[in-house]
Amino acid sequence: MTGTHGLPLSGRMPDYTTDIAIVGGGPAGLAAAEVLAQAGRAVTVYERMPSVARKLLIAGRGGLNLTHSEPRADFLARYHPAGALDAAIAAFPPEALRAWCAELGEPTFVGSSGRVFPQSFKASPLLRAWLARLDRLGVRIRTRHRLTGIAEALQFETPDGPLAIRPRATLLALGGASWPRLGSDGRWVPLLEGLGVAVAPLRPANAGFAVAWSDLFRERFSGTPLKRVALACDGAAVRGEAVVTEAGLEGGAIYALSRPLREAIAAGGSARLVVDLRPDLTQEALARRLSGARPGDSAATRLRKAAGLAPVAAGLLREAAGAALPADPGALAGLIKAAPLTLTASAPIERAISTAGGVRLDALDGRSMLRDHPGLFLAGEMLDWEAPTGGYLLQGAFAGGRAAAAGMCDWLRDTGG
Ligand SMILES: Cc1cc2nc3c(=O)[nH]c(=O)nc-3n(C[C@H](O)[C@H](O)[C@H](O)COP(=O)(O)OP(=O)(O)OC[C@H]3O[C@@H](n4cnc5c(N)ncnc54)[C@H](O)[C@@H]3O)c2cc1C
Repeated sequence: MTGTHGLPLSGRMPDYTTDIAIVGGGPAGLAAAEVLAQAGRAVTVYERMPSVARKLLIAGRGGLNLTHSEPRADFLARYHPAGALDAAIAAFPPEALRAWCAELGEPTFVGSSGRVFPQSFKASPLLRAWLARLDRLGVRIRTRHRLTGIAEALQFETPDGPLAIRPRATLLALGGASWPRLGSDGRWVPLLEGLGVAVAPLRPANAGFAVAWSDLFRERFSGTPLKRVALACDGAAVRGEAVVTEAGLEGGAIYALSRPLREAIAAGGSARLVVDLRPDLTQEALARRLSGARPGDSAATRLRKAAGLAPVAAGLLREAAGAALPADPGALAGLIKAAPLTLTASAPIERAISTAGGVRLDALDGRSMLRDHPGLFLAGEMLDWEAPTGGYLLQGAFAGGRAAAAGMCDWLRDTGG
């Protein structure tokens, strides 16, 4: 049995009333739905989970860091590869995202780090207001619809059985593969590869890394933050905070280095992370302070009093030294300024904040449409770009979704749709 468009039909009748299908109800998909509906399109969002935007809601647990207030050039430089989101963010920059939130009744503020949050520090009121707006615009949301095929038509598994549709245009915004219980599980990869689309392997981004701590250090310091450190790997350096875990290290400064660390591990089996435990002091100043310590002081007291190291930092120094700490103040200062740690593996993607890899950007044209598949658009974290935490991920998803929607509007207009 075949349907009106020659589609094989199984289960219930296909829904041919859909003009535009958006698959994936995360920030990228919903942002696209808003733009398309405002342009007068009949939009249906298909989402595999019982409700949309679960990752956005989880981000709300950390206060919902929506974007960042730093100067535009610095902001854009956070994305890899360079230029990946320049056009999308030029069209929907952080100020526009903040204005959009305010319109939805959720004004934002800039935190001391420059990060931008809603004043409510929550995601749920923003999402509620957004979904109400989408509803007013006529956007239909079909939850519990899992995309299972895209070759001839869009095929879904639904609670009522299989569904096949052939919309005029489709946007896939299926997310990456981190935190799969929230919905994005990366199972779309074979579907796109089946269409001949190049997909870079999905890997953990903004993830912790394994370090072979001694039992003593692990037991004493798991869960303890390492504050105001500077970390470096392969020429990339970042200041911030990391947290000692049972398995190794995690936290903002580690996440910011995830790409060079991950690449070093892929290339050589391990990565060398260099930790500066006193980034505000030069090695010489530190050596002077250590030389001035009382001769009878123990090493622990010298590290605490003269070098100003917290117990966790002193412990980490011993882990890095492997053997006894150097007695010479200059050598000890050198170690404090550049304590080397060997990182052996990234945390699994299931526990990463975001995903690196995805559909290669050169598979898309300037409208976010697959070059070899007219009418099929992509946006969000399923694309092969990455960024650190700090609001860059959500900004990228919102801006990318809106840019793909604008691209789709242009394409529909040019093709008489
Ligand atoms: C714990 C945590 C905290 C975070 N905090 C922040 C933060 O504070 N700031 C920030 O910028 N970023 C944060 N992020 C990252 C941010 O949430 C994501 O980058 C963003 O949600 C990506 O948006 P997206 O729309 O591309 O994908 P997603 O939000 O992952 O949405 C994709 C949607 O597609 C659906 N889907 C997948 N496959 C199918 C299928 N086959 N059929 C139908 N539907 C499907 C999924 O269920 C999901 O709803 C956080 C992430 C996590 C895990």
